[in-house]
Amino acid sequence: MIKQITSAANPLIKQIRALERKRTRSETGLFVAEGARLVLEAEAAAVQPETLLFTAEARQRQAVTALVERFDRSGVQCIETSERLLSQITRRENTQNVVAVYRQRRQSLRALDATSHRLWVALEEVRDPGNLGTILRTADSVGAGGVILLGRCCDPFSFECVRASMGSIFAVALAEAELSELQTWSQAAGGAIIGTSLRARGRHDALPSQSGPRIVMMGNEQAGLSAEAEAACDHLVRIPMRGQADSLNLAVATAVMLYSLWGAEGYPGARP
Ligand code: SAM
Repeated sequence: MIKQITSAANPLIKQIRALERKRTRSETGLFVAEGARLVLEAEAAAVQPETLLFTAEARQRQAVTALVERFDRSGVQCIETSERLLSQITRRENTQNVVAVYRQRRQSLRALDATSHRLWVALEEVRDPGNLGTILRTADSVGAGGVILLGRCCDPFSFECVRASMGSIFAVALAEAELSELQTWSQAAGGAIIGTSLRARGRHDALPSQSGPRIVMMGNEQAGLSAEAEAACDHLVRIPMRGQADSLNLAVATAVMLYSLWGAEGYPGARP
C-alpha cells in the first residue's frame, strides 16, 4: 500500500534524514541512493530497496509508475512525498525526485572466490568518497570482481560515494580485510598482488602474464602505499609521468591500471 507523507516531523522521514550521518548508517546498516536511474540499476542487479520515496510528479513518469507498482507488489515500503522533504533527505536543492533506502552489503573476503574474476582492486586507506565511488564505477566497467578496503577507509555508503559510483555500488562486491588476509586469499588462488607506487621501478604495462587473478593495490591519496603493503605485493609498478604533477589522482591511476591489464588481454567480455 502506498503511503503519503508530507510532514518533516514524520518519524520515518526523520530516520531517513539521519542516514546522512556515518554513525546512523553504521548502526542501522542502511544507506540512501538518489535517482530513478540508480534504483533501476540496483533492480537490474537484483537489489531491492527497503523503502522507496518519490514525488507525485515523478510518479507520472511511466518508468516510475511501473517501478512503484513492482516494488509495492513485492513488499517494499513505497512513499509518495514532496520535493521539499526529498531535498531535506538528500541535502540538495535540486534533488532527484526518486530516492531509495537500501541495506548495506559487505562481504567477507573468505566469501569471495578470487578465481571467479581476473581483476580485483584493493585500496589502502582511501579517504575521499568521490575517489572511492569513481573506483567502484571503474571496477564495474572492466568487470572486476570487487573492491577490497584495507585499513581505515572512508564510508562506501556515504551520499558522495554512492553518487560517484553511479549505480556500480550495487554491481561490485565490497569487502573489508586485513593485509595479511588479502595475501593469504591471493596466494590460495594462485593470484598476484600488483602494487602501485611512484617509487617502483617496474612499469605498469610491462608485467609478466599471469594465469591467476590480479589484485591491483592502490595507496592512500596523501601517503601512498605503506611499507607493509608494498612488502606484501608480488609486483610493484609505476605509471610513467612527465610535466609538473608528481602523481596521478588515485581514481585516475586505478583506471589506468585496470584498463591496461584488461586491455593487455584484448578486453574480454567488452560490449560490442
Ligand atoms: N604522495 C603519494 C606517494 O608518494 O605515493 C602520492 C599518492 S597518489 C595521489 C595515490 C595513489 O595513486 C598512489 O598510492 C598510487 O597507488 C597511485 N598512483 C598515482 N600516481 C601513480 C603513478 N604515477 N604510478 C603508480 N601509482 C600511482
